[in-house]
Amino acid sequence: MDDCIFCKIAAGDIPAERVFEDDHVVAFRDLNPQAPTHVLVIPKRHIATLNELKPEDEAVIGRMYGAARDIAEQEGFADAGYRTVVNCNEAGGQTVFHIHLHLLGGRMMHWPPG
Ligand code: 5GP
Ligand code: ZN
Repeated sequence: MDDCIFCKIAAGDIPAERVFEDDHVVAFRDLNPQAPTHVLVIPKRHIATLNELKPEDEAVIGRMYGAARDIAEQEGFADAGYRTVVNCNEAGGQTVFHIHLHLLGGRMMHWPPG
């Protein structure tokens, strides 16, 4: 997708502080962090929202969660706990329409989220 900011980050055309990358996913620090660690894990392939997820995308979603688990370990809060979130469309609070897994850690989280 030519006009997608996260496709551009995945391609390296827009800079981001990367913390993890493999053939299928990239993780980088959020520009506007909501916790001491706030990382976004994205598929390299463009998937706009959770609603567009196809059966063949399920493997990449598994890799996104695997990356989040490994980053939580690297960042040192795996045992203490952390939160992973996928927002979908306007009512879910999605603002960038390339699916992403938020990984938030390093502080106590609250429930329910706002
Ligand atoms: P959403 O609201 O769609 O679930 O989350 C989008 C996230 O992307 C927000 O937390 C926002 O701060 C982050 N974000 C938006 N543009 C950029 C960018 O250009 N670089 C980085 N690193 N994060 C971004
Ligand atoms: Zn994209």
